[in-house]
Amino acid sequence: MNEHANYIVLLGPPGSGKGTQAVLLAKRLGIPHVSTGDLFRMHLKTETPLGIMAAKYVQKGELVPDEITISMLNERLQEEDCDNGVVLDGYPRTLVQALALESYLDSADEELTMVAYLSVPNEELVQRLSGRWMSQSGRVYHMVYNPPKIAGIDDEDGSPLYQREDDKVETVLHRLEVYHEQTSPLIEHFREEGKLLEINGVGEIDEINDAIYEALQ
Ligand code: AMP
Repeated sequence: MNEHANYIVLLGPPGSGKGTQAVLLAKRLGIPHVSTGDLFRMHLKTETPLGIMAAKYVQKGELVPDEITISMLNERLQEEDCDNGVVLDGYPRTLVQALALESYLDSADEELTMVAYLSVPNEELVQRLSGRWMSQSGRVYHMVYNPPKIAGIDDEDGSPLYQREDDKVETVLHRLEVYHEQTSPLIEHFREEGKLLEINGVGEIDEINDAIYEALQ
């Protein structure tokens, strides 16, 4: 591993924009963006044994058990492109995962560089998430912020839009509840370690990204 490796965690509730920020930051730093949500969705789609095991949790908006999640993530970290660090998105989500990550990095003579926490009020999160619709080819729309030209139809190929199972209002509320219950202790943990950078997640995407990037320098 490289002496300038950057191991960055983006923390924030679903819908806080951490995915968008993680992609931008990873690009800026030239390191991979690793999202456990994306990894699970990939396993689900290709129906790997791990995907089949995780399906019932992901579809209900519940956390996949730590053991499965930790081993999936550790495997990803062992890939060569992660040697200079990574931007983690959606991981860790529990204290057990946080401790597992720290012990993984410790055994590789590395440490977490920074944990950026994007804070966004709950009402805003519900509005952002429950308005999200996707096209079959992966384009993302929002009923309020980025609506398609014709309701329910993809602008590019005319196919019907669909809502991610876990973006439906009921599931969104449940995801937020799960988040606050299980992930809030992490914020405390990283704060105590002096690793936590709190960022206001309401505002322009580029400005939020600059704030994270500058804190890192
Ligand atoms: P996300 O796209 O980050 O909202 O993740 C989608 C779903 O994947 C979550 O609702 C969980 O079911 C699962 N998931 C993602 N990351 C984790 C994690 N770190 N621990 C447990 N489950 C996770």
